[in-house]
Amino acid sequence: MTVSSTILEEVGAVLGDLVALPSVNPEGGGGSGEIHGESRVADYVESFAVRVGLEVERQPVHPNGRDNVILRAPSAGAAAPLLLEAHMDTVGVEGMEHPFVPRVEAGRLHGRGSCDTKASLAAMLVALRRAVAAAPLPRPVWLLAAVDEEYQQTGIRRFVESAPELCGAIVGEPTGLAVVSSHKGQLYQRILVRGRAAHTSVPERGENAIYLAADLVRSLRERAASELPARAHALCGSPLLTVSLIRGGTSEHIVPDACELAFDRRTVPGESPESVLAELERWLEADLGPERFARIAIQPPHHAASPVETPPDHPLVTGLLGAFERVTGAVARATGVSYNTDAGALSGRGVSCVVFGPGEIGHAHTPTERVELGEVARAAEILERFLRQGLTAL
Ligand SMILES: [Zn+2]
Repeated sequence: MTVSSTILEEVGAVLGDLVALPSVNPEGGGGSGEIHGESRVADYVESFAVRVGLEVERQPVHPNGRDNVILRAPSAGAAAPLLLEAHMDTVGVEGMEHPFVPRVEAGRLHGRGSCDTKASLAAMLVALRRAVAAAPLPRPVWLLAAVDEEYQQTGIRRFVESAPELCGAIVGEPTGLAVVSSHKGQLYQRILVRGRAAHTSVPERGENAIYLAADLVRSLRERAASELPARAHALCGSPLLTVSLIRGGTSEHIVPDACELAFDRRTVPGESPESVLAELERWLEADLGPERFARIAIQPPHHAASPVETPPDHPLVTGLLGAFERVTGAVARATGVSYNTDAGALSGRGVSCVVFGPGEIGHAHTPTERVELGEVARAAEILERFLRQGLTAL
């Protein structure tokens, strides 16, 4: 099905504007030296809201104008709002020649953030503008343009601290227009290993923390390979554990008295930080023995994002799938993905979420980032259709 040229032109213009405004996450940008922050995109979203008559609020999160922007569409009803959410920050721009010059070639718009996730933000802004212009909405709809998804998700976390009850959320990320009802969560965790220092000429007087850490790494690797796949989730796959950092020792001639390692644990729906900790303790005590287990300290997670699992018959899922089918003429089913998104912070507070947006995740974070403009326009049409026909079922 072809999309109407007016919606194509409108999303193309908004997306071009957004890509032209640098919004590299100053902390999660991959050390590019391109320090911009989200303030210019926040200013743009705010003026868009004012221009089309939506109520708008800036919610400070970080200094230098790195604010969340919250748009509120008027509604006759006073029910709990539906939230549309997309992040404004991008990763860095290493290897890109003109990252902030939006270039359209063969129907694709190129530039940093074009796919992840300014395409979703553009589609949501245009869909909301068109739905509000067409008819009063049957329930309130909020749009959150959030800061800092690419680093620590502080934007969405700040929002949920003070958010009202929500009837659901659509989180914009490049899913290729798939309706994602489940995704993994994520924990970053450290383990400290204690030893006892000694001169390396008499190593038997010490306890080598690096040797114990090596056994610990082997245990984690083997347990993850043998036990986690059995717990695979139907839509988002197996839980994962990757040891990703190790640090220890002070000198060649000293038996090391300390070592630290960190790992990334991808959780599936049904797992929690508590269940992960209990499992780690069980594995490591059995593999290392009680005396050596007593020399390690598993730290609480320093980053935790909940998994997402919304039932396939939830009206948010069925309504968005129905809108997809009416716009595209194709049949679709809810799917799951392995990465995590801002939806985890909402889901952790009991908000039903789906992740949906134009663009292929494989193009995100690459020097050749791009998005099909026709797909961005279809996303806007699907969202507009959902806002006009799907809200009453929520
Ligand atoms: Zn993203």
